[in-house]
Amino acid sequence: MRNKAIFRNSILLSVLALVLPLALCVYRAVQRGKLDAVATLNGVTDEMARRSAETREQIASALEDLQSNPGGAPCSAGNLERMRLVAAVKDYLGGLGYVKGDTMLCSSLTGGGVPVPLGLPSEVRPSGFRSWDQKALPGIPRQKFNLIGEPGQENVAITVPELIVDVPLAVKGMSLVQMTADGRLKRARGPYSETWLTRTLAGQESFVDSGKLVVARFEKSSGLVMFAAMSVNEVHRFAWQAFWRYLPVALAVAALLLVMIWTVARELLSLRFQIKAALRDREFFLQYQPVMDLSAGRCVGAEALIRWKRRDGSMVSPLVFIPVAEQHGLIEQVTAQVMEMVATDAAQLIRDHPEMHIAINFSPDDLHSKEIEDRLQRLIHDVGASNNIVIEATERGLLFPEKVTETLVSVRAKGFRVGIDDFGTGNSSLSYLGTYDLDFLKIDKMFVDALGKNEPTSQVAFHIIGLAHSLGLKIVAEGVETKEQRDILREAGVQYAQGWIFAKPMLMHDLAAFTRLQNA
Ligand code: C2E
Ligand code: CA
Ligand code: CA
Repeated sequence: MRNKAIFRNSILLSVLALVLPLALCVYRAVQRGKLDAVATLNGVTDEMARRSAETREQIASALEDLQSNPGGAPCSAGNLERMRLVAAVKDYLGGLGYVKGDTMLCSSLTGGGVPVPLGLPSEVRPSGFRSWDQKALPGIPRQKFNLIGEPGQENVAITVPELIVDVPLAVKGMSLVQMTADGRLKRARGPYSETWLTRTLAGQESFVDSGKLVVARFEKSSGLVMFAAMSVNEVHRFAWQAFWRYLPVALAVAALLLVMIWTVARELLSLRFQIKAALRDREFFLQYQPVMDLSAGRCVGAEALIRWKRRDGSMVSPLVFIPVAEQHGLIEQVTAQVMEMVATDAAQLIRDHPEMHIAINFSPDDLHSKEIEDRLQRLIHDVGASNNIVIEATERGLLFPEKVTETLVSVRAKGFRVGIDDFGTGNSSLSYLGTYDLDFLKIDKMFVDALGKNEPTSQVAFHIIGLAHSLGLKIVAEGVETKEQRDILREAGVQYAQGWIFAKPMLMHDLAAFTRLQNA
């Protein structure tokens, strides 16, 4: 259950880890797209404003130039030439002209021959400033001009309105418009709407108008409003560009989150982590397998075997989790809990049957542990006597005498009995048999299984029995399942045995009943 929940949550988090950065990427791209589009449009209105200011400067300086230094009478050949010369060096001026009333008498563009009626000015300011906008001039087809007259002057500057809006564009299909603040169109490129002005004067610098993003810029100095607009599709293109820019970052973040989630999940799903949790939650308990005296048929003790029942009810075999606990330095905590459980479980049994023993399995690390002495001391205190406790060590645990000897001496001195578990299955030399003070050997199930069969290992049990006898050690045979095995072992002089033929591991409560029945 726990694993399923961890797995489910990890999947859920993984989806979020993927979706959130991508959603953020989309959100930021949309924002960025709009900002980039507005910045592009602003660049255009800036350029229009710059050109507009430049034009005004050129108009002022050209007119001043002509006024202060004319080339003769206004429409004389000399002055027309002068007009041409002055206008030629001003790149935003189309030309210069001379206006009397509402008629342009001559200009550098049309010459002096034909007077051009201009009609009423498009704008007249109290100062005397006048302008005629969008005028066609004879002899110049398909081209409109703006004519500007400064106060008190009859000379006018002729500008090409397109020059202001002829800005190079990074985005196709843009509209560029210049209007006066009172709504008079000065220049336009591309479609526009007059309503833009009202929205701008209401303080909106950018807005969307019928599928177009519009940006406005109001120039106080000239009283002009510049508009630049691009289609919303182009804004989307900016957003896509930003999206592709952000995507690698979003994916990198997602990947990082995924790695983090699954690293944690793997840790949570790992047996190591679950053993820790099981220790904390006390999910371990003990079963006891009776050890029988083969000749008397009595139960002389039991081996404590750890069991792990998870919260979902599933059992995990010690063959699976004990090696993992050993590998990750958790076995001492496991053994500590086993010793505590033996203390609570067995105290009564030992009071009732003082001749019985309980065997506890020790892993190599337990024999090397510093705290083992204290734990054993506590066990003696809880159980009442040390000679009721047997420690089963494996050959692996005895590999490093310098670490173990002291512990074993002290264990023996306290009165505990010590046996070698799984004797003959480890790849160790037998030299430790002389080094340590031991009580018995356990013949592994593997050799018991071979008894009476025509197998290469069928003789091993007899060698072990001979060795034990010669060293004065008692023998416990493990995993006895058949009457034949039991009888062979008994005849060979083995005193003790455990196995399914006698009893499977059971709870302490059942062991007490079993013992009463067997030993009655
Ligand atoms: P082991 O110490 O050699 O324990 C004997 C194993 O053989 C036990 O398996 C027991 O249930 C099983 N067994 C006993 N009689 C028979 C039989 O007649 N037939 C068969 N097929 N099996 C029999 P279990 O309980 O699964 O334990 C497996 C191993 O886990 C133990 O081997 C021991 O190495 C380790 N272990 C169990 N409890 C503990 C513990 O508290 N601490 C430590 N460090 N290791 C433990
Ligand atoms: Ca054992
Ligand atoms: Ca064993």
